[in-house]
Order: sequence, then C-alpha cells, then structure tokens
Amino acid sequence: MHYYQNKTILVTGAAGFIGSHLVHSLLQAGAKVIGVDNFISSETSNKNLQDVLDHQNFNFEFGDAASDPHLYLPQGVKIDAIFHFASPASPPIYQKYPVETYLVNSLGTHHLAFWLKKHNPQGRLLFASTSEVYGNPLEHPQKESYWGNVNPNGVRSCYDESKRMGETVCGVFYRDFGLDTRLVRIFNTYGPSMNPNDGRIIPQFIQQAQENIPLTVYGDGSQTRSYCYVDDLVRGLLLFMAKDELKGETINLGNPEEYTVLETARIFNELAGRDKDMIEFRPLPSDDPVKRKPDISKAKKLLGWEPEVAFREGLTRCLE
Ligand code: UDP
Repeated sequence: MHYYQNKTILVTGAAGFIGSHLVHSLLQAGAKVIGVDNFISSETSNKNLQDVLDHQNFNFEFGDAASDPHLYLPQGVKIDAIFHFASPASPPIYQKYPVETYLVNSLGTHHLAFWLKKHNPQGRLLFASTSEVYGNPLEHPQKESYWGNVNPNGVRSCYDESKRMGETVCGVFYRDFGLDTRLVRIFNTYGPSMNPNDGRIIPQFIQQAQENIPLTVYGDGSQTRSYCYVDDLVRGLLLFMAKDELKGETINLGNPEEYTVLETARIFNELAGRDKDMIEFRPLPSDDPVKRKPDISKAKKLLGWEPEVAFREGLTRCLE
C-alpha cells in the first residue's frame, strides 16, 4: 500500500497478537516500524517478533504505553502514524491487570495524542477500540451509531470503560485540537500467535484439544460471537489508516458470521477430529455479553473491505 512507503509508524502492543501481525504487514508494505511493548499479556517475551528483530526497518523499544512516550521513544523521532494497540484484551488477563488495563487505554491514549499533536500535528492516531464498547448490546447486529449497554462497575469495566474513555480522548483531540484520530472497533479475532494461555475461547480450545480434554463451554453456550481471522482484520486496519479522507471516523472490523459458543465448540471438535460433544459446561462469568455481531456496512463502503476467510477455513488453518 502506497501510504506506508518510507513512513515511520509506531505500533504500541507490538509483541501482542494483533500488534505483531500488524508489524509484519507494515514492514511488508515498506514502512519503518517502531514497536513498543512491556509483554504484560504474554508475560514472556518477544517471540511473536523474533523473525523481525534484526529487520533494518524495525526497532523494538521496551516500554509501558500508559506512560509518556518521551520515556520510551528515541529522542527527536518523527512519527507519521500511531497504531495504539497496547492493552490486555482477554477477560481473564485484563481482570488480572485491571489498573494497567484502564491506564493504557485512557491515560496512554491521552499521552500519545498529546505527544503526536506536539511533535507532528499532521500525524495520525488509530486507536484499537473494541466491540466491548457495545457491552451487552440491545441492538443487533451492532452498528457504529449504537452507544452500547455497558456495566460501568462490573468485572469487565476496566477494559470496556477504558476503551470508551480512549474513544473520548480521540474524539476530543479530533474535534477540539484538529488531530487526525481514528477509531476501529475490533470484534473477536483469532489466528496464529495468540498466547496459548490467553484464556479466550479459540486459544483455550486449542490448548484443551492438545491436552485431549473436553472443551469448556461457559453457561449453556447460547451466547453468540462472530470470529474474524487475523489476516482479514489486519488488512482492514492497514486500509483504514491509509485513507486520507477517514480522519475522525469510527469503523467496526469483524466477521459477521455469528455462532453460539456451543456451536463454536462443536465445530471446533469436528474440525479437530474429536467427538463433537466432548464438552464440559462451566459457570457463565458475570457480564458475559449475550450476543455480538458486527454490522460491517460502513467498512464495506468506506474501505471496500470485507472478511475473506470463513470461520471453518480460519479454524482449519489454526489447527494445522
Ligand atoms: N468461553 C467459553 N469457554 C472458554 C472461553 C470462553 O465458553 O473456555 C466463552 C465466553 O464465556 C464468551 C465467549 O466464549 O461468551 C467468548 O469469550 P472470549 O473470552 O474469547 O472473549 P469475549 O468475547 O467474551 O471478550
């Protein structure tokens, strides 16, 4: 994509699941990439970035994206665009790190917007928001115009509400200070290089299949999710940042193929060559959204984007 050639792009959360895929695609598109991470979600290291650590166009900076960028960025660096993707994203992990989670999405977004406004007012900031801003949605499927139904003081609020605050920060910097901010609301995404101990449904099932134990289905499994393959998502992210006219926009990215969690488990077992009903039911965590499915008409119209990898196809790739 032409936009990225010789641009300097900052990716926070570069060592994470989506961040690391993004780094690889940006390097392929000809960008110079600075990746920042503190490994909070993986609790390990840079394994998702091993193959690019020596790339001439890639620099890795260890740092906390909740803090002032002066603390982790090289002095005098000029950044053309920022993908702010640092944040735990799995419910068990963000609930283990609630303070770090709400800080990186709220204060971290503020610091990045402020820094960019000061050092390159023409720069772009794309914030990784989430379908979680819709909470337990009363509108289905969810359009960008929907304001959501979020419990402000529930177990998920450190994530949901701080993503909403991050959206607020971007909105203020766009409207009041003229900064080019963009919001992407990312729906459930899966694919290679998710942390196997992440706790989210697909890595959890993969782990359980490897151990040859039943898949854990929370509640009666009637809640729904729509799963997007990571390559599709990253393609959408690159398009969104690159288009000049999308300053200030909010766009859903996700795959609208919707499944109940029980169907998800059965399909998974079938594709993994296991007994379809090798499933164990567990209590439903609190505030678990009952349904979720993106309306992607805006992404189709503004980006010419839609997912290409069907769920069964993507899952087969992961199992391989
Ligand atoms: N889930 C499940 N078993 C698991 C992990 C998750 O039934 O081992 C359910 C969870 O309750 C939720 C859905 O799968 O309804 C998706 O959960 P995930 O943690 O992947 O993401 P969420 O969409 O809830 O943020």
